[in-house]
Amino acid sequence: MTLARRADTAAPNAGRDRPAVKPVNSHLSALGTTIFTVMSALAAEHGAINLGQGFPDTDGPEDVLQAAAASLFDGRNQYPPMPGVPELRQAVAAHNRRFYDIPATPDHVVVTCGATEAIAACLTALLDPGDEVVLIEPLYDTYLPVVRLLGAIPRLVRLEPPDWALPEAALTAAFGPRTKAMLFNTPMNPTGKVFTAGELGLIAELLARHDAYAICDEVYEHLTFGAARHIPLMTLPGMAERSLRIGSAGKTFSLTGWKVGYVTAPPALAPIVAKAHQNLTFATAPNLQRAVAMGLGKEDAYFAELGRALEAKRDLLAAGLTRIGMDVLPVHGSYFITADFRPLRFDGDDVAFCRHITEAAKVTAVPVTAFYDGPEPPTHYARFAFCKQDAVLEEAVARLEGLFGRRAGPVLRR
Ligand code: PMP
Ligand code: GLN
Repeated sequence: MTLARRADTAAPNAGRDRPAVKPVNSHLSALGTTIFTVMSALAAEHGAINLGQGFPDTDGPEDVLQAAAASLFDGRNQYPPMPGVPELRQAVAAHNRRFYDIPATPDHVVVTCGATEAIAACLTALLDPGDEVVLIEPLYDTYLPVVRLLGAIPRLVRLEPPDWALPEAALTAAFGPRTKAMLFNTPMNPTGKVFTAGELGLIAELLARHDAYAICDEVYEHLTFGAARHIPLMTLPGMAERSLRIGSAGKTFSLTGWKVGYVTAPPALAPIVAKAHQNLTFATAPNLQRAVAMGLGKEDAYFAELGRALEAKRDLLAAGLTRIGMDVLPVHGSYFITADFRPLRFDGDDVAFCRHITEAAKVTAVPVTAFYDGPEPPTHYARFAFCKQDAVLEEAVARLEGLFGRRAGPVLRR
């Protein structure tokens, strides 16, 4: 039956104001569109420089692109194996051994459609309705919707600026007899925090004490600055059996559109993550997987340079925002600077500020309240992505300077 005929024959509702079908009212129907999409659309509408959504504005390495192109023409374009092509599972295992001494094998690895799917797959693999999950706030925007869809119960532990240190008492209190897992992100979006060995030690102790699992979102693993070093929780004593470590080719090769992610998990858990993956997407593009496999084998200098180049961009943008008068918080890793705009005497919250600079300066940032769920989040921070060409960052600063001038006088603190 065609839709038109259905409408004709749907007599009880015809011509009335009542909706023809009942409201969906599902949990997801109440969820807003992600802030990254919202701000990118606003940037496009105003022709603004987009320092909102975190993506590099240059392509990743030429040889990885070439490998993807070449892989399209060798007759392997049908469904790849569900847990990932052998080359990439092997390469992810080797990458774990090479950088962190994690004794992984291909059996530990599941390839996903980006880290986004990896996060959903790991949560789905571990959680049943009523299970509790410890999360760190501010948090990445896909974490809570998935936890809630699974009927699990989030326990949020809030970090406080400017250093975003892990509060021991609050974290300890968040764990309990129903804790099934903790999900956290290091290096961390949006704060730029890199969890210290001491903080990871505390997390490990709590996970062991409560016999819980860790989902470690480590997509920015190679993007650390200065003395900061990324330490996978999985490398701590007793953690290999209970950690699921997530990486993303999007970040490691500056190819965010490729959506190739990978989970490294103990052999007992990897097949369960794979079962989640088989129901979510089943597989990701085979040529991209094979190109990423090649990329993960690149020389050490490639990975070191990735962080070094980004560190210079962090410094460029941090200096510019500081010159304008913003209070830039320390950033040790990731793509992002979090900056306090109160010194600019802007009369409004972070959402209004990000809209204002998009419209008036043609520079877009992301309001940091988007990363909070609990009550009374700080409303005076904007997140700026610095994974952009130097000239673009310089132009963004010049535009903001045009709007706000330089250092707008004494810092006003609430
Ligand atoms: N986790 C964090 C913390 C992120 O910032 C992002 C996106 N940049 C993702 C996961 C998603 O990664 P992907 O694009 O590989 O899905
Ligand atoms: N992770 C990116 C960010 O934090 C956005 C990814 C996305 O738009 N899905 O900006």
